[in-house]
Amino acid sequence: MSTQVLIVGAGPTGLVLAIALARRGVVVRIIDRNSGPGQASRAMAVHARTLEFYRQLGFADAVINQGIQIDAIHLREHGEDIVALPLRDIGAGLSPYPFVLAYPQDDHEHLLVAQLRAEGVEVEWNTELESFTQDEWGVRAVLEHGDDRVTCSSAYLCGCDGARSRVREALGLDFAGGTYNHLYYVADVQTAGPPNQDLVGHLAAHTFALMLPVRSRGMQRLIGILPDGAPAHADFEAVRPVLEPLLGIRVEQVNWFSTYRVHHRVATRFRVDRCFIAGDAGHVHSPAGGQGMNTGIGDAINLAWKLAHVLQGRADAALLDTYEAERIVFARKLVTTTDRAFQLIVSQGPGGQLLRNWLLPHVLPALSGLSAARRTLFKTVSQVMIHYPDSPLSAGRAGDIIGGDRLPWVPDNFVPLQSLDWQLHVYGHTDPALAAAAQALRLPLHAWPWTEAHAHAGLLEDAAYLVRPDMHVALALPRQETDVLQALATRLKLRFGRDS
Ligand SMILES: Cc1cc2nc3c(=O)[nH]c(=O)nc-3n(C[C@H](O)[C@H](O)[C@H](O)COP(=O)(O)OP(=O)(O)OC[C@H]3O[C@@H](n4cnc5c(N)ncnc54)[C@H](O)[C@@H]3O)c2cc1C
Repeated sequence: MSTQVLIVGAGPTGLVLAIALARRGVVVRIIDRNSGPGQASRAMAVHARTLEFYRQLGFADAVINQGIQIDAIHLREHGEDIVALPLRDIGAGLSPYPFVLAYPQDDHEHLLVAQLRAEGVEVEWNTELESFTQDEWGVRAVLEHGDDRVTCSSAYLCGCDGARSRVREALGLDFAGGTYNHLYYVADVQTAGPPNQDLVGHLAAHTFALMLPVRSRGMQRLIGILPDGAPAHADFEAVRPVLEPLLGIRVEQVNWFSTYRVHHRVATRFRVDRCFIAGDAGHVHSPAGGQGMNTGIGDAINLAWKLAHVLQGRADAALLDTYEAERIVFARKLVTTTDRAFQLIVSQGPGGQLLRNWLLPHVLPALSGLSAARRTLFKTVSQVMIHYPDSPLSAGRAGDIIGGDRLPWVPDNFVPLQSLDWQLHVYGHTDPALAAAAQALRLPLHAWPWTEAHAHAGLLEDAAYLVRPDMHVALALPRQETDVLQALATRLKLRFGRDS
């Protein structure tokens, strides 16, 4: 069978894209120049939105069982515990996964490789993209495998090849932005005493340090910036004298230590004709908030169903334009916000007491109760607030939900989403005209009796919601309008139902 999509790069973005395409019956090839999955724990936080996508794909529980749900965050300043904020259930009522999960990227990638294998697709390791050309019929790539050079023809090519993306370069896309002056370090270490199960954060003048537990190895993961003046090739001993008193730990064994520079950049485009970029290939920023990997996975989920639809003749190729339109807006916003948060932390002068002087009196009181601020923090960090209001796929408003929003979670309404396909949701009574239209469009319709929980989630009684394969609301239909539904199907030549 000829390749429909060639995926370059088997990091988290490429692997999730491959799984989501293969699950929909698309013929994929996925290559990576490395000899196997990444060896470094790198990104640690797996957020609620990513787990919601994994639930759709059937492996959220496997990820949760291998990670650690973080109970609390302890904030320290100048070597002293200042405040502990409970994190468990911080998103109660907002997501089936109302917590922050720590799960190291190397374990995560191994799990994704196994999930992809279960779909019948093997990553082709030690295989590098050398070059490619494209025309209106497809893409022709030259791949290097050892001393062999082979060509691969495909309908589409996706560059999930990381921050130094060759695909992005070959497409001539600018990667505008900058590089932070600070040098980051990341380490996996064994600490003395009982293992820490929480997130410990330390802020001080010109620095910060974070510690999270790594379950599979009984280790602690440390992230921070090197003290001023430390050489780029510094080892752990360069940070030990400062770090140990600040975090209140004693490091007994260093498993892994690495330094790296952080950039803040977004590519000018995410697509040129038949070629796409996703994940770090399209956007990089500070690791503040653990957003990088989760955003790449979100890109992959957004792109997968659109490619599958177009390849399977279920939608006009114009559907593919919505990938960049939807994802680049979020990437730009993310770079600005993580940039601002990061600058706020590291730009304090000597003796700067961000925590004591600002966070403690102004921000933390709101966060420590069951207040709206905690919910907003969860919604933002967990990525459940990502929405596409300006997308050509989005329209209407019903209750608090506008077209492009993530479908709000209420117990049970995520169950049918495992079909990975379009569906109509009605909360309340279904108009027979809507039921008839849904049947004519071969659009599965799910209805729930109206409850308080629906009102609390911002849904509107007796409204209908057209839900996309990636769990976003496309159309919010307050009066179950069938004409809008028909119009979207016609405009994008959408076939909501699969061929049986
Ligand atoms: C040291 C470090 C620490 C980090 N810590 C955090 C953190 O705490 N939180 C967070 O959210 N993020 C963190 N990140 C960022 C996070 O790791 C990335 O956002 C994430 O890996 C992006 O995934 P990706 O699949 O898009 O790209 P990558 O993981 O970079 O994967 C790209 C893949 O493409 C392959 N490839 C590249 N070029 C080619 C080619 N020409 N042919 C074939 N294959 C190719 C590479 O071998 C690689 O496997 C960290 C990154 C680093 C480097």
